[in-house]
Formats: sequence, C-alpha cells, structure tokens
Amino acid sequence: MSEDRMPTIGIKRDWKGKGKAESSIDSMDDDEDSMPAPKKNLKWERHFYYHEEKDFMIADEEIEDCHWCQINAFPTAEPYPITITNFIDESTLPDDFRFIDKSVLHQKIDLAPEEFRSGCGCRNTGDCKYAGCNCLEDMDFDMEEALAMRQKVYSYHSQGEKAECLRGTKLHSRNPIYECHKGCECDTSCSNRVVERGRKIPLNIFKTENRGWGVRSSVKIRKGQFIDLYVGHIITSQEADRRRKKSEFAQRKDVYLFALDKFSDPESADPRLRRKPYEVDGEFMSGPTRFINHSCDPNLRIFARVGDHADKHIHDLAFFAIKDIAPMTELTFDYVDGESAPLLKDSKNDDKVKDMTKCLCGSRKCRGFLW
Ligand SMILES: [Zn+2]
Ligand SMILES: [Zn+2]
Ligand SMILES: [Zn+2]
Ligand SMILES: [Zn+2]
Repeated sequence: MSEDRMPTIGIKRDWKGKGKAESSIDSMDDDEDSMPAPKKNLKWERHFYYHEEKDFMIADEEIEDCHWCQINAFPTAEPYPITITNFIDESTLPDDFRFIDKSVLHQKIDLAPEEFRSGCGCRNTGDCKYAGCNCLEDMDFDMEEALAMRQKVYSYHSQGEKAECLRGTKLHSRNPIYECHKGCECDTSCSNRVVERGRKIPLNIFKTENRGWGVRSSVKIRKGQFIDLYVGHIITSQEADRRRKKSEFAQRKDVYLFALDKFSDPESADPRLRRKPYEVDGEFMSGPTRFINHSCDPNLRIFARVGDHADKHIHDLAFFAIKDIAPMTELTFDYVDGESAPLLKDSKNDDKVKDMTKCLCGSRKCRGFLW
C-alpha cells in the first residue's frame, strides 16, 4: 500500500458490536485501579463521528474512551504521530484497550526510597560517554583501562549518520543499557539519554492479512535506532499469576506480560531484586509497541534500560532495531528471544506438537511454532 493512499487516521470504533474485538479474554477485573471498559452509549457514538469538528462539545469521558484522542494527547503526537489503519476487514482495536505513554504502577509496587537515588555529577555533558561517569559504572568494561585510555563506554554512537544508534558491541549483546536521567547533573541534551528523550519515529498500527494487528513505520529505520518503550500496568508477580489464571488461555496472556527480571538475583543486596520480579501487563493499557508481532527472524529486540540505579527492579523495556528497516516493513521481535531450544525439542515430539501454536511469521528461519 503506497503511503500517500493511507488515511492519516483510520480508527473505526466498534460501537455497534459488529466485527468483534480480537481478545477472547475476560476483561472484567475486580482490581481497584484497572481501567474500566469504555461505555458504549449514544454520546460515545456521536463523539466518534464528530470529535474532529471544532464546534462540537466533547465531554471529558468521551475523550478518555477514544483511541484517537488518547494517541493525540501524547506529547510527541505532532512530530511523530501514531496512526491506526485497517484495509483488511471491519475490525477495530479491542474496546477494552487504552493507550498510555507511561507505565502505570499497581498500588502494591514498592519504589526505592529517596536516599537510594543517585545520578552522575558530570557538569560537561560530553563526559557521560566515558568511564568515570557514575551512570556507566555498572557497564561491562575494564575500568582501569577505560579510564587510562579515556574510552567511550556508553551504549550509543554520538555523531554522524549513526548518532543515537546503539553501538555494534551493544547491539549484539543482551546487556542492559544504562542512561543518564533526571537525577544527573548533565542536561537533557546529554548523548546518554536516548531512551529518555523518547520515540522519534511515526508508527502505524495496521491490520495484517493473517496475524491480527501489526506495527510499521512510514520512515526508514537505522540499525541500532531506538523505536519505543513497551509500557503497561506494572504489577507484582502474584497479581500477574492471578491474571494468568483468570485468562482463558494462559499462554495468550503471556504474550502481553513481560517480567522485569533482568537484574533479579536471590543474592542481591537490594531486597527489591531478591524478590520475584514485577511484570508489565500491556493487554489492556499500553502503547503502540503492544501490537508488534512475533517473528523467528525479527528486526527488533528488547533491551533492559536503566535510568536511576535504584529503579533496576522497574527497569524499562526498550525496543531497538537490529537491522536497517525499509519504510512500511512490519516491525517484529522474537517472543522467545534466546529461549528457542526447548521449543525446537518439543516440535520433534508428536505428543507435544498437538498442543503447540503454529507460527505464522513466514520468515525463512521460521521455527514452525510460537510456543
Ligand atoms: Zn549525562
Ligand atoms: Zn555522567
Ligand atoms: Zn548521568
Ligand atoms: Zn516463525
């Protein structure tokens, strides 16, 4: 589909109940702070057809329930819009889903006390690329040598075509990214604040022919470039298990749950890292990346990103491109990144195969099954 034929926005809300939302999971939730499903009433119906007209009075609750209004309220909506298009059928995004641009914390989430918070003291913004910047001290390098040689040890390229892209060694590793943050002395232009500065590409959520919704961009994406975060409801592992049990297909629920376990360690000095990790649930509230499909030969990967070191237990999940990506190519990541061995073993066992889910990624490296 050529770009100029794409409508700028194509949300078609399903207020008549036609073309049922994809999710078969019971969205009723007795959890106090979960979001209620939008009310399907006449006012809502009017809002859908008139929300772009200036002289039409819009009630706050209508704005709250509208996907179009939710994504337009994002601070970066103007330079990097998110659009939703469906040229395949009549279906719309799930009614019980809402767009958010920052994760929402469940009331039981334990935050680090103020006295544990810290940042770097670099006055010269350029210093945050080098060993010696406190924000980089947990990165994987030889401190003595790096200090002596004044080596750049931060995660990014700083200049030219590749500016803000992950460096090769980082890109091929599974190591976390440590960035500067609001507790640091450097300013917001610091070159070690790429994820903090946010998404810089427009995204289009579109209906694919055979794999539900997918995500792509109208612009060329460079290898190593930051795409966006995976945001959602940050919940305890107990709450995540409760939601898995309530879900009709536990494995389907797992598609939306990401454990924040990059730093989990039973021996850690930080009690928050000794416990079972928190999880991010993006099923009912998330950003556009929640609609990214799986591929066995993906063009994106998720990296754990840390700002304040006291927040390792609620680290960010940041999508980066691991290849150059042409405009309008579907963005994908591997749902079982690095853990495909058990899957390959099971796929040779006829008893297990009947319970496995076929992969529709269509890549030449396809493993045949999603899980
Ligand atoms: Zn900095
Ligand atoms: Zn610094
Ligand atoms: Zn810093
Ligand atoms: Zn596949």
